[in-house]
Amino acid sequence: MNDSRRAELAARVARVTSRIASAAETVGRNPTDIALVVVTKTWPVSDILLLHELGIRDFAENKHQEAESKVAEVIGLDLRWHFVGQIQSNKATRIARYADMVHSVDSVRVTERLNLGAHRHERSIDCLVQVSLDDETARPRRGGTNWTELEDVAGAIDGAERLRLAGIMGVSPTGGDASGAYHRLLEASRMVTAVTASATVVSAGMSADFEDAVRAGATHVRVGSAILGQRSALR
Ligand SMILES: *Cc1c(COP(=O)(O)O)cnc(C)c1O
Repeated sequence: MNDSRRAELAARVARVTSRIASAAETVGRNPTDIALVVVTKTWPVSDILLLHELGIRDFAENKHQEAESKVAEVIGLDLRWHFVGQIQSNKATRIARYADMVHSVDSVRVTERLNLGAHRHERSIDCLVQVSLDDETARPRRGGTNWTELEDVAGAIDGAERLRLAGIMGVSPTGGDASGAYHRLLEASRMVTAVTASATVVSAGMSADFEDAVRAGATHVRVGSAILGQRSALR
């Protein structure tokens, strides 16, 4: 069972990696400039261990409770945890205990709580501002700041002692035009690099559209089902 799962994951990792490389090459980018973050939500820790053996080092979760329990089970393994889900501010201090990069910072309040948690646990955390790519009428909304909030949140992260403003993140609108959305995201990236020149991370692209995201300039793609398979529950 473990052997067949290992073979399945190995084949899918190889396939996704080569698709990232081809998409990068079509626009003259270096494939090594793009980080593959594997989203393991709903999948067991045994899959994380297999993926780690296959060389994956960046893992993402979108719910605090699930993340916290998985993190506890793989302590000591050299890997980076990314938090990509919506953050309730009462959970932010606890997320600060394990997250190396938080992709989904979308308010000043969450920024303050993450900074407090980072202080408490004597850590520093890379933060991305999640920018909304929904048009005004979109339902369901995928979260993120609007254009006016973007600078406030970027400024708050930049001014927080234990947080580093690393860039921006976007979730493409359901059923929408991904390349138009990614064009807006790159505009947001320019606003944020004007605050901090080193904040060059652009987290964009999921299983359905990571090649579009790479061609548009993503530095981090967040891939779940194309590697792990379809999740049983809709999440
Ligand atoms: C689940 C999730 C992903 C990965 O989605 P797939 O379609 O399974 O690749 C990426 N980003 C966020 C924010 C997610 O919640």
